[in-house]
Amino acid sequence: MTSDTVTIYVIEARCKTIKVPKSVPDGSGIMIFKKRQHTVAQLLQPSTNADDLRTSGEISAAIYSICFVPKDVPIQFICETKLLCDTLCRDLTKWEGIDWLGVRNRLALRDLVNVLRQRCAYTSFHKADNKTDRNIIDEGRRLTTRLMQDGGAREVPLRIDPTLNISGAKLSLITQRIAYRLIRTRLDTAERRRTVSTVTSVIATLNSQLKELTRAEDLWTSLRNPDFRLQISDFLWKCMHDAFRVGRFWRNIPRYEDRAKCQYCDTVDSMSHILVGCDAPGQSELWTMAGRLWAKKHAIWSKPTLEDILGSGLRQWHSKNINAASLWRECGGS
Ligand SMILES: [Zn+2]
Repeated sequence: MTSDTVTIYVIEARCKTIKVPKSVPDGSGIMIFKKRQHTVAQLLQPSTNADDLRTSGEISAAIYSICFVPKDVPIQFICETKLLCDTLCRDLTKWEGIDWLGVRNRLALRDLVNVLRQRCAYTSFHKADNKTDRNIIDEGRRLTTRLMQDGGAREVPLRIDPTLNISGAKLSLITQRIAYRLIRTRLDTAERRRTVSTVTSVIATLNSQLKELTRAEDLWTSLRNPDFRLQISDFLWKCMHDAFRVGRFWRNIPRYEDRAKCQYCDTVDSMSHILVGCDAPGQSELWTMAGRLWAKKHAIWSKPTLEDILGSGLRQWHSKNINAASLWRECGGS
């Protein structure tokens, strides 16, 4: 390391142990720039790949902090995790060989490699491994709220050089399975309007109940929670896609239009109505029984909505009884 080397700490802005404002954008990172006696901290958010870059603020901070440093000045990155060290220093050839297949934040990592290749000076990545570094990282994260209040997360435009982009996979490295998966990633699958609407609604409900913001991918993963039997997971997945033939589905089917209404309540049928809204005998008794069981866990009971049921895999309860979340999933899933 020469005397001209600048040290940059890159930190994930979101953290489970320190509360940060919900307004901090997904994928935001903190850059702490150190050179001799100068220290600059900045909250940075991605201006591109926002959908892809949600899980690592370290990548955001590294990409955008490079824009602050001249290309001929050496940089030493001190990272909170081993993500960048492993991906860029150990596995880069492997990931580029299979077009980053299966790698989280693949688009952002490709951009990071692109901006690194534009540099002519030495760049190194290290995981924080001593007390001083870890203290600086902790201090940086505590600054998140203040940085957000001062000027918010700063967007820095990326300067990508298209001639340095390596696309596609190496024939010598791909197998039939990898080739199939790569072809699948290139196929545009249109999002179903009803699915997007349901997911948005469930996430909004969870965000109003939980401390941390919920991501769509977490919601989909939660449908396979071990507390759910396979049939329940399948049922929830179909509900998310509004795939059951209930209610409005029958409106345009000749001779079956009457199936669009609940025969008991004479209102438009829907999965929400069937699960929690119908006055047919048996339903209220079922929810009353679930409520009594729930009360034994010393938690306040309220009849769930369809969104509560679909998001039950992620719901957390601040109850002394550690089985409360599990029971909630059983109540919702039953
Ligand atoms: Zn009904």
